[in-house]
Amino acid sequence: MFWSFFRLKYDSPSVMQGRRDVNCVTNWNVPLVWEGTFDPIVVDSIYKKLNPRIAVILFAVGKYTRFLKAFIESGEKNFMVGFRVTYYIFTDHKEEVPKVALATGRNITVLPVPSATRWQDVVLGRMKWATIAIDQQVRREADYVFMMDVDSIFYHRFGAESLSRLSAVLHRAFYKTTRAHFPYERRPESQAYIPADEGDYYYTAAVWGGYLEDMYKLVKHCHEQSEIDAKNKIEAVWQEESHLNKYLLYNKPTKVLSAEYLWSAYDKVPEDIKVVRISQLVKNYAEVRPNGGN
Ligand code: UDP
Ligand code: MN
Repeated sequence: MFWSFFRLKYDSPSVMQGRRDVNCVTNWNVPLVWEGTFDPIVVDSIYKKLNPRIAVILFAVGKYTRFLKAFIESGEKNFMVGFRVTYYIFTDHKEEVPKVALATGRNITVLPVPSATRWQDVVLGRMKWATIAIDQQVRREADYVFMMDVDSIFYHRFGAESLSRLSAVLHRAFYKTTRAHFPYERRPESQAYIPADEGDYYYTAAVWGGYLEDMYKLVKHCHEQSEIDAKNKIEAVWQEESHLNKYLLYNKPTKVLSAEYLWSAYDKVPEDIKVVRISQLVKNYAEVRPNGGN
């Protein structure tokens, strides 16, 4: 009886999971999540018991409201299916927020933000508006918070395996490069400055998340740092992404998600990306951004 139990346990596919072709743990010993390193049924059963409330903070300012429909519709099919999710949509065009049928336990909340004349102000401003919204509302309504770019579509499961106190996604363009290639802020005058001999990974600011209070600390800190920069008349090279990377260097993520958790339609999918869970769309930068360019 005893031995048959053990045989059953060790023969079960869930303990056969693993990947040899990629690194599945960081050098501070937290998981680096790839397809094939977790059993979705086991993960879901753990988190279902906790029944967390998950907030998605999403900006759709100016012409970016056009991306909302596909984002939410694909999110309903792939993002935290079976869990409680609220999409907090920050927009200057609330009349353009589409009506999308949501599963039970899932909601949309629309919050006003001012229009912008520079896309840089929108992306950087995400830290500020997230800080304010968490303080005023989200703290009472959510246990986890994700910050996401709206110009994206979910294609595969993006589930509870991504949850932790602070989870960040490896930027698809830099996960195979060495630190010398990371586009960190290199000017010491900016609060986002990272010296050449430091840095673990380059994380994308287009998808990241974590436990509400950990996220609050992060967005508040990055907002304050960007305010100091503004006073000093400097803007970090990749705006909020630079500040995020600085914060995560000295406050390590408790889970790192592979580039499966944010790919891009601009890039070919390589051998080690077995599933693209969410991907950024090709867009006409000049047309969609208030001040064009990229
Ligand atoms: N965004 C927006 N309006 C703008 C510029 C940006 O709503 O005019 C938001 C939107 O959520 C977008 C995110 O900021 O997904 C990041 O900007 P973008 O996707 O243009 O940056 P990229 O991913 O191309 O670097
Ligand atoms: Mn984007």
